[in-house]
Amino acid sequence: MQVVFLGLPGAGKGTQAANITEDFGIPHIATGDMFRSAIAAETALGKEVRGYLDAGLLVPDELTIRVVSDRLQASDAKQGFLLDGFPRTQPQAVALDRILADLERPLTHVLYLEVAEEELLRRLTGRRVCKQCGASYHSKFNPPHVDNVCDRCGGELSTRPDDEPQAVAVRLRENMQRTEELVSFYTARGLLAKIDGEQPIGHVYDEIRWILRGERV
Ligand code: ADP
Ligand code: AMP
Repeated sequence: MQVVFLGLPGAGKGTQAANITEDFGIPHIATGDMFRSAIAAETALGKEVRGYLDAGLLVPDELTIRVVSDRLQASDAKQGFLLDGFPRTQPQAVALDRILADLERPLTHVLYLEVAEEELLRRLTGRRVCKQCGASYHSKFNPPHVDNVCDRCGGELSTRPDDEPQAVAVRLRENMQRTEELVSFYTARGLLAKIDGEQPIGHVYDEIRWILRGERV
């Protein structure tokens, strides 16, 4: 199963990905997580992308495509994958088609989590992420059991620098029209499944599970 997860920043992709990878046994490949790890490890890639992430801007296509192409060659991706945060532009979507054609593993599903802008703002400004494993929480909508401590790994929670209000506004502007274009692109291919991402977390996951099991189109 080769799955793309589409949705604006804050739509709930990371939150849902944790369940999907566990139930379906496919790796969660999130370009944002890969870039943040590279920044934390101070690698050459991290130095190159840091300015874009801090500002909320998209990393250039060529670089992003190279990173994803390399990642998809890894052995764990041979059983399928959940791509989160990629593609984000038309050139990335075209490149993904080419990469997957070479690997003879075409996309099987594109899940689109639809959430209105006002709700995205509420979610992003309250988001808290685990410094250790990246799990996503919300101070009101999805708090951890113990204040500031990750339920999953015990790590400390923090606020992402690009969840500060100024960067949030830039990120939504950067992504809105491009996401609409990708929704059209994948709808035209009959791959897109639209999900109401404003439902409670468990309901959203029920829908995702039905779609991936072929019980809802
Ligand atoms: P994305 O990976 O799409 O950027 P996240 O999964 O990090 O989004 O979710 C963004 C924020 O919204 C987090 O604070 C998360 O706890 C919260 N959230 C996710 N799904 C829901 C939901 N269905 N209802 C309310 N809050 C949610
Ligand atoms: P995310 O964790 O998905 O919210 O992504 C965080 C940041 O990483 C974005 O604001 C971009 O700077 C960068 N990024 C992630 N995925 C991509 C992508 N497919 N194309 C360009 N930039 C990306």
